[in-house]
Amino acid sequence: MSALLEVRGLNVVFSGFHAVTDLDFTLQQGELRFLIGPNGAGKTTLIDVVTGLTKPASGSVRFAGQEIVGRSEHAIVRAGVGRTFQTSVVFEELTVLDNLDLAASFRRPLPALLRRRRRISDEVAAALDTTGLGDLADRPAGVLSHGQRQWLEIGMLVAQQPRLLLLDEPVAGMSRAERERTGELLRLVARDHTVLVVEHDMDFLRRFASTVTVLHEGRLLREGTVAEVQADPRVQEVYLGRTRDELSKEVA
Ligand code: ADP
Ligand code: MG
Repeated sequence: MSALLEVRGLNVVFSGFHAVTDLDFTLQQGELRFLIGPNGAGKTTLIDVVTGLTKPASGSVRFAGQEIVGRSEHAIVRAGVGRTFQTSVVFEELTVLDNLDLAASFRRPLPALLRRRRRISDEVAAALDTTGLGDLADRPAGVLSHGQRQWLEIGMLVAQQPRLLLLDEPVAGMSRAERERTGELLRLVARDHTVLVVEHDMDFLRRFASTVTVLHEGRLLREGTVAEVQADPRVQEVYLGRTRDELSKEVA
């Protein structure tokens, strides 16, 4: 394995407030990594820096060996970094298929974009298959359930063929069955992508996570297996007020 993402000495300051401090963080090619930490730990800020939305005060972010601090969001997307946002990017009136097709089209040259779609492109077919939304391909996205919509958004990312996917709380608000389905989907996507997932639910982590990174107040607190992270007294302490038993159910 080789490093796909290397964050070194990262500092992010918002008008005097240190949101991320001296952070080193590495993702190996092909990893499915989980990122946890209490509210305000800096998880979303880290994703914002990697995607070029937020400029760090100092530090380096190397993606596939290239420095990306200072590059535009657009350039970083083109380099192969994809993310989901808290707010939906789905077009409700368009079908599931058209949403996927539109997402995939950003990499296509203009003539292909202007040509009417005659057949489903390979990346769209693959995204439909991966997300299990094939039966809903011709339905407007507006009719999808919350879970299905999240899968569509992940599918739209996959259709853009990024090398790294950054998913910020993709299972928030999902039912147990939907979470399970999402976990399976993440495993599938992680077969040929590197994936970073922000999620707190310990049951979910035990089922689907191998390596977990814990942030606390903008600093790296712990990195390890789910079992190692859960057993760490410092991790237990930052989720103050929770007993070990409660912790094993939910760390949020
Ligand atoms: P998390 O995603 O781990 O809950 P965030 O990365 O969103 O945490 O936020 C980390 C800290 O930085 C929080 O205290 C938050 O209020 C602050 N913060 C995040 N974005 C901004 C911003 N644009 N301006 C000022 N403060 C911010
Ligand atoms: Mg967040």
